[in-house]
Amino acid sequence: MVRVRLAPSPTGTLHIGTARTALFNWLFARQQGGAFLLRIEDTDRERSSEEFTDNILEGLQWIGLDWDEDPVIQSHRLEAHKAAIQQLLANGKAYRCYASTTELENMRSLQKAENNAPRYDNRHRNLTRSQEQSLISEGREAVIRFRIDDNEIIEWNDLIRGPMLWRASDLGGDMVIARQAPANQIGDPLYNLAVVVDDATMAISHVIRGEDHIANTAKQLQLYKALNLPVPQFAHTPLILNKENRKLSKRDGVTSINDFRNMGYSSSSLANYMTLLGWSPPKGMSERFSSKEAATVFTLSRVNKAGARFDWDKLNWLNSQTLHELDLRELREQLLPLWINRGWIENSIPETKGKISEQDLTWQIDLCELLKPSLVLLSDGVDQAIPFFQCPDIEEKAWSQIKTASNQLALRELLNVLINKGWDGQEISIAQEILKFTCQATDTKKGILMKSLRSALLGSIQGPDLLTSWSLLARIGKDKKRIRRCILN
Ligand code: GLU
Repeated sequence: MVRVRLAPSPTGTLHIGTARTALFNWLFARQQGGAFLLRIEDTDRERSSEEFTDNILEGLQWIGLDWDEDPVIQSHRLEAHKAAIQQLLANGKAYRCYASTTELENMRSLQKAENNAPRYDNRHRNLTRSQEQSLISEGREAVIRFRIDDNEIIEWNDLIRGPMLWRASDLGGDMVIARQAPANQIGDPLYNLAVVVDDATMAISHVIRGEDHIANTAKQLQLYKALNLPVPQFAHTPLILNKENRKLSKRDGVTSINDFRNMGYSSSSLANYMTLLGWSPPKGMSERFSSKEAATVFTLSRVNKAGARFDWDKLNWLNSQTLHELDLRELREQLLPLWINRGWIENSIPETKGKISEQDLTWQIDLCELLKPSLVLLSDGVDQAIPFFQCPDIEEKAWSQIKTASNQLALRELLNVLINKGWDGQEISIAQEILKFTCQATDTKKGILMKSLRSALLGSIQGPDLLTSWSLLARIGKDKKRIRRCILN
């Protein structure tokens, strides 16, 4: 039975790299008919918080991932971790090391001076009882270290990277598995130990995680062996890189799933894009897919070894395609909370069925139809909707257009004709007639008049289809006011 897990540390909001690892685990589990589990690695008490845990769980749900069992909370498993350490101490595979911080620092500076990689020199590996007693009587505390046999070659077959080989002598010497504590106690267990014990208890069959954990895998394999636990298979996913081919970081503007959400990306396009960050769909499959579709064909063998470059253009393209395919009612439903947020629509309206008038509903849907073709982000449906909900500021270029004497004359005439003829925004042909009549009466070219009208109505010389925009404003009685405010006396 395939059982995989995501093991986030709740020391920050859900990071894009963690979310992508989550997706690969989820896709693999679903494709294999296995289970996708969560383990919250909250043993760093100072940096972990429940807020971050909630953020991570919410973020995973938002990108469409579900998990099959209640999340395991690592800090609740302290006794199991300590029992494993006890077992390693009892069979001589671990020991107490009393080396002080100063001693360790001196050791490191010597190694540095000799151009050697920093490592613990295993100095307390074979203390006699009396040596130990005298260190204790000095009042020293001890960490617990796991013996690493420097002669060993550690090998595994990585399901993404192929055969892997690691010299145990490159692991930095005997590894600390429990923090400092008084000599007869066991201090807080550390990451590698806890992960091995928990993955074994959770019967994890495949550990799929970022390539920054490769050295940890080498260490953990030694612990599996020493604890006599069944070893899972490993797969290390490529890092997500920025334009400069460095690991995507806070400096690149966004790293947290929240950021993408706030910028207006839809969860389905973001999940689609994250899946493409390192995985290529099989021949014949479009690059646009739902996670459900990807789950039918996902294999680790199609995950690349090389780092995956983050490509904003591609993400934007995917997002715009998703938005353009939404039906107008769906698009309205997605935009409505954002419009409400801006105070443009009353909070009581959404889905208290019947409360919104048919007329308002149609108006909102027609607005969606006008905006839809130019949407890249959902938030564009807010920015571009501004002139339809509030009187927009008039941009400089628009003012230059409006304020010339001839354009003033034309706008004044247009307003007169509009008042005389009246237009409720329904029949577009009436608006066309009004424009035609004004052009003739003031000897203005149609293109020029339209530019002035656009400037007056929308505050800008660019924007969506003018007649439809005008019609939307006329339907809520705002067009004449906008034109009037542009007529200078
Ligand atoms: N808590 C670790 C992290 O967030 C988990 C690594 C693992 O998957 O073993 O990086």
